[in-house]
Amino acid sequence: MGIATINPATGETIKTFEAESSGSIAQKLALAQQTFEQYRQTPMQQRAEWLNQAAEILERDKVSFGKIMTTEMGKTLKSAIAETEKCALVCRYYAEHAADFLADVAVSTDASKSFVRYQPLGLILAVMPWNFPFWQVFRFAAPALMAGNVGLLKHASNVPQCALAIAQIFREAGFPEGAFQTLLIGADQVASIINDARVKAATLTGSEAAGASLAATAGKQIKKTVLELGGSDPFIVLESADLEAAVTTAVTARMLNTGQSCIAAKRFIVVDAVADEFERRLVEKFQALKIGDPMDENTDVGPLATPGILKDLDELVQVCIKKGSKVLTGGQPLSDRPGNFYPPTILSDFPPGTPADEEEFFGPVALLFRVPDIDTAIARANASPFGLGASAWTTDEQEAQRLIDEVEAGAVFINGLVKSDPRLPFGGIKRSGYGRELGIQGIHEFVNIKTVWIK
Ligand code: NDP
Repeated sequence: MGIATINPATGETIKTFEAESSGSIAQKLALAQQTFEQYRQTPMQQRAEWLNQAAEILERDKVSFGKIMTTEMGKTLKSAIAETEKCALVCRYYAEHAADFLADVAVSTDASKSFVRYQPLGLILAVMPWNFPFWQVFRFAAPALMAGNVGLLKHASNVPQCALAIAQIFREAGFPEGAFQTLLIGADQVASIINDARVKAATLTGSEAAGASLAATAGKQIKKTVLELGGSDPFIVLESADLEAAVTTAVTARMLNTGQSCIAAKRFIVVDAVADEFERRLVEKFQALKIGDPMDENTDVGPLATPGILKDLDELVQVCIKKGSKVLTGGQPLSDRPGNFYPPTILSDFPPGTPADEEEFFGPVALLFRVPDIDTAIARANASPFGLGASAWTTDEQEAQRLIDEVEAGAVFINGLVKSDPRLPFGGIKRSGYGRELGIQGIHEFVNIKTVWIK
């Protein structure tokens, strides 16, 4: 697929873009390096002012930014506007806290004075996905810019107008030209950017295949990477849970962004004692969701971002069905309309060897597992190659402690929806990736943690 805006709700190609020439890429890299030399000297207060100004712009134009997102990747307009507001939040968060997070840390040793100093690395490449086309970029950019780095964005090929709008926001906010630039390039051009000596590190959010490829290239160059990859997050419901709260949150957790979120709950692991009732209410709530035009404020579920995402998802569903899984609702693409629409779907009863064990279902498909007790629930939750987030529902304190200790994931949320929050670190283990974004940990990923020792 080339670089283009294709409306997922209609299939219409709205605008196509030429990939940047090698000359244009060379100019941008040179500008980025030149900018870094000066930008790294700017006072923290100045960077904070620019970042706060970016927050102002995001809030001022949230509807028009939202419309760009909805047009390019199909999320509902209301969720796109909320995403823009969250980007403003992460800008303000790092504008306020970066100076503290990056202050020298004194350590007493045999020296007369020893301490840790955090210094920027330089040019950081961000390879980003289309599913949260603003948020994923801002959660990288806000800490990276506050730390004195400069950013280069290679966004997904189906969201070029989001990519251009984001670079423009940083320019308008006052950041020097070259502090944050968009490169309109295909995935095949990423390796040459990483191989450039001026680029010091890279971060990627996306599929395992893309992450492994980028990390292999960066590894050969001994360059640091942060990878935020897929997830097949468990949503565990135990007998003592508040069932109505659990089911209501289950719907939100699975349907967020039409199911195209790494931290969407994907595997619903419910103990037998409450499984019938959980299933009945979940089916009822899924069937009540309104599918349609993502620009319409009454729509709950929009289209999937691309025909390829729909095809991949449907293939996984059909393999499960062929191997004997039960369809409780949905189960087929909606062929009565243009666009990439897939209905809210629930599958249950998985014989061994279905994709439900191993794959990420990136769309509105819930996988329902029944288990006898907490031991089996935890074992089932951990029987996944992924380890991003986990949501678990219980009112029993001891059960909650076991879930916190034993579930293999980068985050465990008890009686709540897994979500990212600027104040808390975000990232996974196992095949969900490594490194952390957000919080104090996020700003420390792309800095030189310099040890200073003075006799
Ligand atoms: P990709 O991982 O292919 O795309 C994410 C980003 O990586 C895009 O900018 C893409 O560019 C780039 N990219 C792709 N291949 C490479 C590569 N070899 N080297 C460097 N960069 C690369 O995701 P898809 O859109 O193809 O989605 C496929 C699946 O990935 C989904 O079904 C889902 O399972 C998972 N995914 C997970 C996400 C998450 O939030 N964790 C987000 C998106 C996808 P380009 O668009 O030009 O190909």
